[in-house]
Amino acid sequence: MPMESSSPSNFLHFMTQFPLEVKQDVSLKTLNTFGLPVKAAQYVRFSQIEQIPLLIEMVSFDQQPFLILGGGSNLLFLDDYPGLVIKNDLKGISIERQNQSHVYLKAMAGENWEKFVEYCVEHGWGGLENLTLIPGNVGTGPMQNIGAYGVELKDTFHSLEALDIASGQIKTFYGEDCRFGYRESYFKKEGKGKFIILSVVFKLTRKDHDLKTSYGPVQKELQELKTSQVGIKDVMTAINRIRRSKLPDPQVLGNAGSFFKNPVLPQQQFQQLAERYPDIPGYQTQSTMVKTSAAWLIDQLGWKGYRQGDAGVHKKQALVLVNYGNAKGSEIMDLAYNIQKSVFENYGINLEPEVNIVGKTNYLD
Ligand SMILES: Cc1cc2nc3c(=O)[nH]c(=O)nc-3n(C[C@H](O)[C@H](O)[C@H](O)COP(=O)(O)OP(=O)(O)OC[C@H]3O[C@@H](n4cnc5c(N)ncnc54)[C@H](O)[C@@H]3O)c2cc1C
Repeated sequence: MPMESSSPSNFLHFMTQFPLEVKQDVSLKTLNTFGLPVKAAQYVRFSQIEQIPLLIEMVSFDQQPFLILGGGSNLLFLDDYPGLVIKNDLKGISIERQNQSHVYLKAMAGENWEKFVEYCVEHGWGGLENLTLIPGNVGTGPMQNIGAYGVELKDTFHSLEALDIASGQIKTFYGEDCRFGYRESYFKKEGKGKFIILSVVFKLTRKDHDLKTSYGPVQKELQELKTSQVGIKDVMTAINRIRRSKLPDPQVLGNAGSFFKNPVLPQQQFQQLAERYPDIPGYQTQSTMVKTSAAWLIDQLGWKGYRQGDAGVHKKQALVLVNYGNAKGSEIMDLAYNIQKSVFENYGINLEPEVNIVGKTNYLD
């Protein structure tokens, strides 16, 4: 079970020494990577641990809905947010401890993930290089156990500290407390909205070994780099190249990465599909389950490049829904629903969204 480590006290002192500025009607357009022009009724940014008592007071006193915001790269706002948006801007990176083989590195939740990965690679600390160029914040990584190119955050995760909003206690969670799964964790399920992740500790290797390069495109890129001995920096460079060539840059074209999760099917259901569609990709995850590719299913049905108003399916990657400029969240949602319906009607598979949907919808539950 998570351990409780400290309790904020002396509220008046904190209120005067570490104030929080609450703003009204704040545009979130530049704070969500879909670029949706939604507003937050109230908005507050916190950057110091000492501001937490006041934050807790604010949330429990008002009894209004609240939303923790990181980099806004895994969110779809259907409308203006009627409550308080809390922007987590805690910064700092420090070595907790180290030995000959590993470094235990702590990063505060508001650190930018892409810069953090670069920082680790520059210092020669391995383990996160495959997770390069994933937008968002360090503190959000554990939410969905971010993953790419054969690596998931849980592989290097040591622990995290999170604020229990109900009790005001800061608790430490270790790997098994987080219940990491494929794009899942305790914090995305039962713990959703109950905790604010404050910092994460990673156990990184000090040696250039144990590289995860088995993915075909990664091997191909590495060969093109023509390095005599491949190290973590080469892996990062190779994956950066691949990602830049096929994923849209949210600064240019609004998106939130993969909109749906890859479905994980019972072996028997997958085999029946494979008889009808011999090319369907399948990766054995457990002895009885097979993960297939949501992008393949969507692509086969002709959705790639489809556009409905300003909402569309990316031309190179069928799993990525995009905002061509003036799409509303509800329009992106309608498109997602139509894709979900068509995949279900054709393959009997219910695609689950990976993106966190904020607002009322009857779709995609
Ligand atoms: C171009 C692109 C490529 C992507 N590629 C990948 C990929 O390869 N693999 C992958 O896994 N993901 C990918 N993503 C998705 C996204 O980048 C990750 O899920 C990322 O971790 C989200 O971080 P964020 O800070 O932007 O989260 P936000 O969108 O701000 O928040 C996401 C959710 O977490 C909650 N939350 C945020 N911060 C905290 C906190 N400190 N405590 C508690 N709850 C919090 C929010 O309330 C929300 O529910 C991609 C996205 C884009 C746009």
